[in-house]
Amino acid sequence: MSVADNLRAVLGSLPAGVGLVAVSKYHGEAAIREAYAAGQRVFGESHERELAAKAASLPADVVWHFIGHLQRNKVRHIVGYIGMVESVDSLRLMEEIDRQAVAAGRVVDILLELHIAREEGKYGFTPSELLGLLASGAWRGMRGIRICGLMMMASNTDDGALVAAEFDRAKACFDEVKARFFADAPWFAVRSWGMSGDYVSAVAHGSNLVRVGTRIFGERVY
Ligand SMILES: *Cc1c(COP(=O)(O)O)cnc(C)c1O
Repeated sequence: MSVADNLRAVLGSLPAGVGLVAVSKYHGEAAIREAYAAGQRVFGESHERELAAKAASLPADVVWHFIGHLQRNKVRHIVGYIGMVESVDSLRLMEEIDRQAVAAGRVVDILLELHIAREEGKYGFTPSELLGLLASGAWRGMRGIRICGLMMMASNTDDGALVAAEFDRAKACFDEVKARFFADAPWFAVRSWGMSGDYVSAVAHGSNLVRVGTRIFGERVY
């Protein structure tokens, strides 16, 4: 199967209203161009240097989502062109994106990363940390960011029931955050969970944005 075939298969399996981030990290530009030619515009990357090189040579209408742990000293490099930072995992990172975006004359769309998985994934807010942060109001004056929803990664396990329960927790957290802090903000609508191994379950459990790499591009090449 070619990249284009894989892409069409994934898209064909997504219900209406669910978006796809094609995760192109560690894959070369030729593979990205193949997906682009098949109509895909939103791509996910997790390393600033790799992203910068790709963004410089790929078409300008590609929408890049940053999905990895983002160091604050890298923010200024991506703030001018990034479509969304999905992996905002600390207040200090949020503040830095806000500061750099204001300086660049932009408003950057972000997601707040939830940490629900048991094991790995040391990044992200627990649901209670997230509620505490939002209740503090520290974000309310930030003019350079727009908080568009939540992102999470489920545990890396074959235990489908555990993964589904984690997605359900993320959805419940989203609903509570939406009701308490963003009821009047129609842009707060993104629930980004689901990867190659679990995106079908993720969609069945509240996701409306999946981030799929291996299923489209194959195993990562470097
Ligand atoms: C790599 C990555 C993905 C895609 O993973 P696949 O298993 O290749 O689909 C999704 N989300 C994040 C945050 C990632 O780092």
